[in-house]
This record gives sequence, structure tokens and C-alpha cells, in this order.
Amino acid sequence: MALIVQKYGGTSVANLERLKNVARRVIKTREQGNDVVVVVSAMAGHTDQLLQLAYQASSRPSEREVDVILATGEQISSALLAIILRDMGFRAKSYLGHQVRIITDNVFGKARIKTVETWRLLKDLKEGIIPVVAGFQGVDEEGNITTLGRGGSDTTAVALAVALRADMCEIYTDVDGVYTTDPNICEKARKLKRISYEEMLEMASLGAKVLQFRSVEFAAKYKIPIHVRSSFTEEEGTIVCEEVSEMEKALVSGITYDRNQSRIELVKVPDKPGVAARLFEALSDASIIVDMIIQTSSYEGPYANLAFTVSRSDFNKALEISKKIAQELGAQDVLYEEHVAKVSIVGLGMRSQPGVAFKAFKALADEGINIKMISTSEIKISCVIDPKYTELAVRALHEAFGLEKEA
Ligand code: ADP
Ligand code: ASP
Ligand code: MG
Repeated sequence: MALIVQKYGGTSVANLERLKNVARRVIKTREQGNDVVVVVSAMAGHTDQLLQLAYQASSRPSEREVDVILATGEQISSALLAIILRDMGFRAKSYLGHQVRIITDNVFGKARIKTVETWRLLKDLKEGIIPVVAGFQGVDEEGNITTLGRGGSDTTAVALAVALRADMCEIYTDVDGVYTTDPNICEKARKLKRISYEEMLEMASLGAKVLQFRSVEFAAKYKIPIHVRSSFTEEEGTIVCEEVSEMEKALVSGITYDRNQSRIELVKVPDKPGVAARLFEALSDASIIVDMIIQTSSYEGPYANLAFTVSRSDFNKALEISKKIAQELGAQDVLYEEHVAKVSIVGLGMRSQPGVAFKAFKALADEGINIKMISTSEIKISCVIDPKYTELAVRALHEAFGLEKEA
């Protein structure tokens, strides 16, 4: 007998019919002799609607109250699934984050899980009750409701799997696995049987929203395998696990994109110690995650230009802070582009292979796509481009690296 945590995403619980389908899958897993803890997302589109509502009420709603509103999406779907399971003759019980006691820090909108209590869930399992946990939410030490960032139900599921020492965490979604790139924008994308935590971490951090980054972080740290699969078919999906030798052969394992990026540039800041530290300290104090950073020195004197990217949800805050610091530092100007996209190539095999960057830049150049910023690490290359070329860029890179063919 295994203990399995199953997470069902928004499309899988989009309406009552689909919730019934989920209930049947849960029951089947139980009848195969396993213990199941279920995690659900809000019904498809519901989180967006709730967010819109908050922003209709105010252009700058309190972050604490936004989380109170957003958490209601998962409150509804978890209770509905418990009702349906009971109707089908099974004992089930819904839990909100604060009822399980998923304790997080107090960064509203992107809280991090600190601890998870398991005794209530374990007691239920012992008594034959199926716990249905609302994903995406927790509670801070002071009792405020928090949410874990978009896609956060994945992280709820993996965190529960870790805390419960589950044998497997299954993530049910609207695609049947992790592909070489988003199958919804590139029809030649190929499904991967397995992907290493390391590559999945990189893909998730670079925009492959099939798994939230933090869920992969947890899984990698505690070595919990994740099975990404579809709730609409019986097919095997993709296993995210530790690196195995056959994976090493792939030069590039995937192409990702992220259209929700913004670029900010401080022009002509004094080129002296402490300047970058001052800016990035202020951004970090505001819990803003900075992604790419490029500093270029000027030949016209002791000046530098400092450009960086942030996620678009942080753009307004980041711009405000940048303007303030630019003034303090005596910079000449602050330039920005609120909408840019980032396309990236990810692969463990890149570690030891020259020429990958050239091939990527050439593929983009052949399509006439200009690169605004570049950043590289051992296992990835990212380029910031005009967002209107995102799909073209993804397809061109996918083809350039021969990802559609069987490895
Ligand atoms: P859920 O609501 O089930 O959490 P998400 O929309 O968060 O689903 O994630 C699934 C989506 O991730 C897919 O519909 C697909 O468009 C997107 N996606 C992006 N990159 C990939 C990839 N490499 N493999 C599979 N899906 C991907
Ligand atoms: N409902 C939340 C969202 O839409 C969390 C999730 O689905 O994972 O981002
Ligand atoms: Mg998701």
C-alpha cells in the first residue's frame, strides 16, 4: 500500500462534471489499495476573476485582503469535491490551509511554506476518510491567510507529500506530461518520459508553468518523485526525479518562455562601489525577485548603465523603487519596457558542449528577432526579446536543437 498525494489543477476541476471525474479517479486509487490525500486548485479561471474583482475595488488593494479573496477559490473547489466524494459513498473532508495548518511566512501573494502539520490528515487516513486540501494557501504565524503565488497548489501538494512522507506526488493537469516545450504553442513538442529535478527546476524558473518552481524545489530537496499527468486520460505522464545516465545525452532538454517580464534600466549611474548594492537592497527589501542583471561601463566617464528584469507583477513596485534610488544616486534617467518576453534553452548537456549559444542566437537572427538581453548559466541560455515574437522564437529554437525528433 502506498500513500499518494494527488493534485488536480484548475481545468481538472473546472465544473461539476470534471469534479465527478476527479472523484472517480480518487476512488479508483483508493480501491487499488492506496491511501490518498487530494489537493485541489480553484476552478479554472476563478483565481483570475477574484483578482480582477479586487483590482476593480481599488487600483492598489491591500495585499493582505487580496489573499483573503484569492483563498476563496480553493475553498469552493475543495468543499465541492468533498461533497461529491461523499455522494459517491466515501467519507471525505475538506481542509483549508489554516485548518491543516500550513504555516507560511507573511509575504502576501507569494508566501513560502515553513511547516506543515500532518496529524489531522494522518488521523483521517487511519479512519478511512479522504482529506481534500485547498491548494495555494496557508496561514502566517499571526493567523493571517496567505497565498503561495500563481500555480501554488503544486507546491501545496509537494509540501504535503514531503511532510506525509508520501511515496509519490501526482500532479494532474490539462496536458499529459512535461514536454520539450509548451505543447500549446508548439505542436512539434515532444513528451518527456523523465526529466531530472535540476532540469525541471530550470524550466519551471524560466516560465514552464506546468509545475510551480517552488514545488520542484521541495521535491528535489526531499527526493519526492513527481508524476505529471493528465486527469483526462489513463496515459503515463512524465516522472520528475533524480538525474539518470540516459538523460545526460540530451544537449538541450527544453525550450521555455515567459511573457510576463519587464525590463528597467538606470542610465548613467556613478560607477563606484556600493551602487548596485544600494539598488538591489531596496528591491530585495520589497521582496522583489530580480532576474537578469546587466551592467555596462561607459567610456565617457565614471558612469555605468544598470539594467535588470523583474516579473511583470512586480513592475510597478520595482519602477517606483528604481526611480527613487536613481535620484538618490544621481543617475541620469530610468528607462523601462513593461512588456518583454524571455525565451530560454535548458539542458544538462550544455555543461560540456561549446556552440550552443551560437546556435541559439543564429536561430533567432534567422527569424529577424532582435535580442535585448542575454544571460547564461551552466545549463541554460536566456534571451530577452520583443514579446510579439515569443511563439516564433520558441518554435525556431525548438527546431534548431532538433527537439521534435526522438533522442
Ligand atoms: P493547472 O491549472 O493544471 O495547474 P497550468 O496551466 O498551471 O495547469 O499548467 C499546465 C500548462 O503548462 C499547460 O497547459 C501548458 O500550456 C503549460 N506548459 C508550459 N510549458 C510546458 C511544458 N514544457 N510541458 C507541458 N506543459 C507546459
Ligand atoms: N488557483 C491558483 C492559481 O490560479 C493556484 C493554482 O491553480 O495552482 O494560480
Ligand atoms: Mg498550475
